[in-house]
This record gives sequence, C-alpha cells and structure tokens, in this order.
Amino acid sequence: MAIESINPHTGRTLRRFPAFGWPKTEKILNQAHKAAPSWAATTFFHRAGVLRRAAALLRERQDELARLMALEMGKPVADGRAEALKCATCCDFYAERAESFLADELIETDAARSFISYQPLGVVLAVMPWNFPFWQVVRFAAPALMAGNVGLLKHASNVPQCALALEKIFHDAGLPPACFRTLLIETDLVEKLIADDRLAAITLTGSEGAGAAVAAAAGHHIKKTVLELGGSDPFIVLADADLALAAKTAAQSRMINAGQSCIAAKRFIVEKAVVKEFITHLKTHLLAFRPGDPLDEATQYGPLARPDLADELTEQVKDSVAEGAKVELHGGQAKPGTALFRPMILSNVKPGQRAYTEEFFGPVALVLEAKNADDAVRLANDSRFGLGAAVWTADAKKGEAMARQIESGAVFVNGLVKSMPELPFGGVKKSGYGRELSYLGIREFVNQKSIWVG
Ligand code: NAP
Repeated sequence: MAIESINPHTGRTLRRFPAFGWPKTEKILNQAHKAAPSWAATTFFHRAGVLRRAAALLRERQDELARLMALEMGKPVADGRAEALKCATCCDFYAERAESFLADELIETDAARSFISYQPLGVVLAVMPWNFPFWQVVRFAAPALMAGNVGLLKHASNVPQCALALEKIFHDAGLPPACFRTLLIETDLVEKLIADDRLAAITLTGSEGAGAAVAAAAGHHIKKTVLELGGSDPFIVLADADLALAAKTAAQSRMINAGQSCIAAKRFIVEKAVVKEFITHLKTHLLAFRPGDPLDEATQYGPLARPDLADELTEQVKDSVAEGAKVELHGGQAKPGTALFRPMILSNVKPGQRAYTEEFFGPVALVLEAKNADDAVRLANDSRFGLGAAVWTADAKKGEAMARQIESGAVFVNGLVKSMPELPFGGVKKSGYGRELSYLGIREFVNQKSIWVG
C-alpha cells in the first residue's frame, strides 16, 4: 500500500509514496544502530551546534513548513509558522541546557564517591501523530539527540512530506544522516522493529489503541516506552471567575488546531449559577472564528485532517444527542465525507453519553453543570483520561488547591493549557505515562546509572 498526502481542503491527492518494506527498514535500522556509538561519543558542545543549526533552519523554512502542514493536514499557515518557531525554540532550549540536565549527580553514600550518570540508550523509535506534525516529533527528537541517542521516525501516514522535511532539516544541520531517519512504513512493521534487538526504546504519541498495541509489544520485549495519548481535558469555571475572559480562553482552547489537540479543553465544567451566561459568551467567541482554505492568511481554522475524522465526530455528536445532550450551537459537517467541521456546543452532558466518556477530537465544546467547586473536581476526575486541566476562579489559592486534587499531568489556573519546553508534559490514567520536555523529558531515554567508587 502507498502512503499518501491528500489535501483535506480540496480532497486532491498530492503525492504518493510507496511504503518501505522490511529489507529497506532493516537496513536503515542497522545504519542507525551502527551510528549510535559515535554520536553518543560526541560532546554536548558538538551536538548543541547541530541543534542550533536545526533551529535556524526551522526559522528560515517556516513558510515552506507551514505550507506543507496546510496541504497535508489542513493547519492554517499562520499556525503552521508558529509551530515551526516553537520547534526552533525547543531545539535551542535543549542545545543550551542538555549538558546541565544530564550532568553527573553526586549522591552521598558509604562510597568515597558515588553519583548518578546519564547515558544514552541507542536507537529510539518515535511513532507520531499528524496533528502537530513538527512539534510532536521535535519535542522528542531535540532532547533525545542532545542526550546522545539516535532517532527513527514512523510518522502518521497522512503527513509523509512533513516527516521528510524534518529529516532534511536535521541532515542539513549537520547531523550524520543515519542518526535521524524517517521510515515511510505502515503500522505492521512497527512490531517487527520493536522486536529487533538493535532498537532500544519507543515513544508514541497518539490514540489509546495505538499506545496499547505498541506498549504491549514493547513489554513483551522488555523495552522502555513513553506514551502520550488522548485527553478529555476539563476546563472548570467557578461562579467567581472572570467569565468573559474564561469564555474567550475556552473558545481559543477548544479551537486549537480545529479542535484536534490532545490538550484542547474539551469538557467545560461550569458552576450552575453562571452556566447560561458562559454558554452565551462561548457561542459568540466560537462563531467569531473564520473557517477557510488553510493556505489563506486570514483563515483561523481549516478542515479536520481527514474526512473520516469529521464523520466519526458527527457520529459521536449524533449518539450523544440521542442519549440526552442538548445542541446549544449548531455546526458540524455540511455533509458526510467532507472534512470541514464547524464548531458546536453540547450542553446537558451526563453519564451514559458518549460525550461524557469519550474524547471529542474536533471543535465540539461539551458543557457540564457543577453544583459547586467540589462537584466540579469530582466531574473533572470522573474520566478515563488525565492529560491537562484548567481552573478559572478569582481566588488563586482556591484554584491551586483544586489543581492539586485534579487527576491530570498538568493544571493551569486562570490560563490556557499549553506545552512549553520548561515544564514537563504528559498524562496519567489512559492519557499515558512518562514525560516529555523540561529536564524530566531528557531523562526518559537514558540509562540512569549509579556509579559507586570505594
Ligand atoms: P493514531 O491513530 O493513534 O496514530 C498515531 C500514530 O500511531 C500514527 O503514526 C499511526 O500510524 C500509529 N499507529 C496507529 N495504530 C498503530 C498500531 N497498532 N501500531 C503501531 N502504530 C500505530 O492517532 P491519531 O489519530 O493520529 O492522533 C490522535 C490521537 O492522538 C488523539 O487521541 C490525541 O489526543 C492523541 N494525541 C496525544 C498527544 C499527547 O501528547 N498526549 C498529542 C497529540 C495527539 P498510521 O498513521 O500509519 O495509522
């Protein structure tokens, strides 16, 4: 089968790539495995030079990269440029800090000298999704390469050109080609790669199903994994919150990447006294977003990345309404098989509905009514997911206390949940395990070795 680039805005096929078979994949794995020791032996100074050049190229090529994202998965070009720049910042961040993040850590014991040293593992496979086709990969690759690992990328099958463009950036930046390769493979070869002794570890960002399949195979072969999976992030609004700002931010968060972001706010848990007013504000803000051709500078949201994703979202909405949810803002698809999905609001979201339990990976805001702050936390935690969360209240102390009670990898009080190089990123429960970014992210794919000298 071929790996295809299809423009979701026009439905036109842009390019077709024959998928690599095992012989080609195995050859690349072998080259990566052979290259790993010499890359691990380079200095932090040398590796930082490569990463800084990669950052410069990401900035230089931002228009080209934004265009590729627009064409392959429908991201508006302005957002695509911002993504390229964020990747550059991440490369610079690890170029600057990796050495201190991985410096020997002296520990007092009965030894004359004992310490933890951090050493690379070797070849790491990254299985990645299409929604942030550069950012998802760079937030793995920048720390992994700086730690002295080498990377193989199996990107989502609808963004092959993005995957190749990133490979080229690293190579043009001076990385030995075997140290970062894009594998244009289908999922059936992933398990074979995991089984191979030359592969040391795997990171996957994507759905629960893909995470479970990859982690099961990795478990079978005793290999380290990091999983960044789905989310149904709660966005709590208490009655004392700045309602206008909360609703504006709620709309922004729900509309990130046309709603296709793991940390987009999805469940809006609002105190009863202000729920009506909140919905009115939210409606106004959601309706203000301009849809259009992702290549157009004025476009604020494009189509979903594939028509089948829009079809699936329509089904989730239909079932939830049949189960008792109420449509507050009509939107959605114009007709089945089309990728554009206009924002919607569902209220009266209750247990037993798909809207209550599932992740809605598109611009549908789900509103739940809470009796009070405790009830809001209870509702927030009544989810299989635990990625991000937001709490809006005039009482920052109370917000912080609630943040400690919420079961998630991150909580933002009076702010938009976002990822940034400085803070760790990851989930609990079915949102996965392990952390990316910050000093914790770079310590995932290293041997945390104890050295005891008598
Ligand atoms: P997906 O279908 O799980 O795909 C993600 C990647 O996994 C793709 O490269 C896909 O390859 C591969 N894959 C799928 N099934 C596999 C299997 N059985 N074995 C090995 N690889 C497999 O997810 P998606 O639809 O692209 O992305 C949306 C999901 O990702 C949402 O749930 C979202 O919340 C989550 N996500 C999480 C984060 C986070 O940081 N926590 C960030 C972004 C997205 P193919 O494309 O070839 O199928």
